[in-house]
Amino acid sequence: MFENLSERLGGVFDRLTKQGALSDDDIKTALREVRVALLEADVSLPVARDFIKAISDKAAGQAVTKSITPGQQVVKIVHDELVHVLAGDNDNAGELKIDNAPAPILMVGLQGSGKTTTTAKLAKRLKEKQGKRVLMASLDVQRPAAQEQLAVLGTQIGVDTLPIVKGQSAVDIAKRAKQQATMGGYDVYMLDTAGRLHIDEVLMDEVQSVRDIANPRETLLVVDGLTGQDAVNVAEEFDSKVGVSGVVLTRMDGDGRGGAALSMRAVTGKPIKFVGLGEKMDALEEFHPERVAGRILGMGDIVSLVEKAQETIEAEQAERMMKRFQKGQFNMNDLKQQLEQMLKMGGMEGIMGMMPGMGKMKKQVEDAGFDDSILKRQIALINSMTKRERANPKLLQASRKKRIARGAGLEVSELNKLMKMHRQMADMMKKMGKMGKGGMLKKAMG
Ligand code: GDP
Repeated sequence: MFENLSERLGGVFDRLTKQGALSDDDIKTALREVRVALLEADVSLPVARDFIKAISDKAAGQAVTKSITPGQQVVKIVHDELVHVLAGDNDNAGELKIDNAPAPILMVGLQGSGKTTTTAKLAKRLKEKQGKRVLMASLDVQRPAAQEQLAVLGTQIGVDTLPIVKGQSAVDIAKRAKQQATMGGYDVYMLDTAGRLHIDEVLMDEVQSVRDIANPRETLLVVDGLTGQDAVNVAEEFDSKVGVSGVVLTRMDGDGRGGAALSMRAVTGKPIKFVGLGEKMDALEEFHPERVAGRILGMGDIVSLVEKAQETIEAEQAERMMKRFQKGQFNMNDLKQQLEQMLKMGGMEGIMGMMPGMGKMKKQVEDAGFDDSILKRQIALINSMTKRERANPKLLQASRKKRIARGAGLEVSELNKLMKMHRQMADMMKKMGKMGKGGMLKKAMG
């Protein structure tokens, strides 16, 4: 999967990583090529646009380091952004809500998307990986032999299917499945609804009625990953009509354009839970954004190289600071680094939690109404000071203070507070520095 996109991006990044120093133009050109590659892979235009914007913003704010080339850094940024686009903020791929037996899972999708196959693959997985007792039922009374197809798969994987009763409607079958699942002590029952060639009102109504009877814990939409942008449209339609809790992308074993995966999460907001990777019953995988991003880029080595380099940089920075503090040096640049570090470490909450003996101060800080937006404002204030002022805050006169505050769009009183805090911290740092390397400071900076 993703061969084409991967090759295209690979080419762009190969050129990039071979260069020692990158100009803005190099990055611009590379990003333009990335954008074209995304669009050709059928990633939707707004998604591609946001993607490029996020990357250029992050690339602009990168710290320059010796151990890796800027091109390698860009690859890492693209990788992280791919993961973000694929995963959204917090998904648990492959996790299904199937507590409270019997838990109903409703399977929906267009005809030929791989719905029946996926139903059986998933049942097998639940049985083998989670030891669940699963009952499958086909509600497809339109397509001849659809119910028999599921029964055959059931026999093959050793999962029960609801006995076929000719002439029943989908709603009747759903009721019967629910009853049988309850009486038979099943953990999960899966309803494989009738496929349709395209979104069709009558069949949608039917799915809605089935949904209302079963009250599914999960409604999984099965879409053919090869259909690209169409897959995303289908997902939006189904979600608006019946509500979808997750997506299964099938045929990701083919060398399709793969853009559906990239747009799916961003456009529909629905998590991809599984991917189908073949016709065999065990060709179903949890969806791992990291793995997929790695496959798209084909640059796993660079990604881990950059991660390591970044850790080293942070350790070196911490070491340098330690030395300064031990000498009793703590200027506005140091404070700024500390504030930035605090934001990175999860804000006030995070850092206070990590510093032993900070409980009391934490309470004071909270009582004073201190939150992370203050950190950002303080950084802005320091940014509007000159180099000399940062190195030696004592230089600041009233007129300069006014201008600095205005430069940051803030009041002088905020600047005064910042300066007071700096003095207090400088005192504290001096004391802590004397406590030696293994002291609180080292711990606080991780
Ligand atoms: P339904 O009409 O949505 O129920 O589709 P089926 O489950 O009958 O699948 C249609 C065809 O697609 C069958 O030949 C399946 O074997 C095939 N198929 C399903 N999932 C995958 C997949 O992930 N990869 C590949 N290569 N084929 C698949």
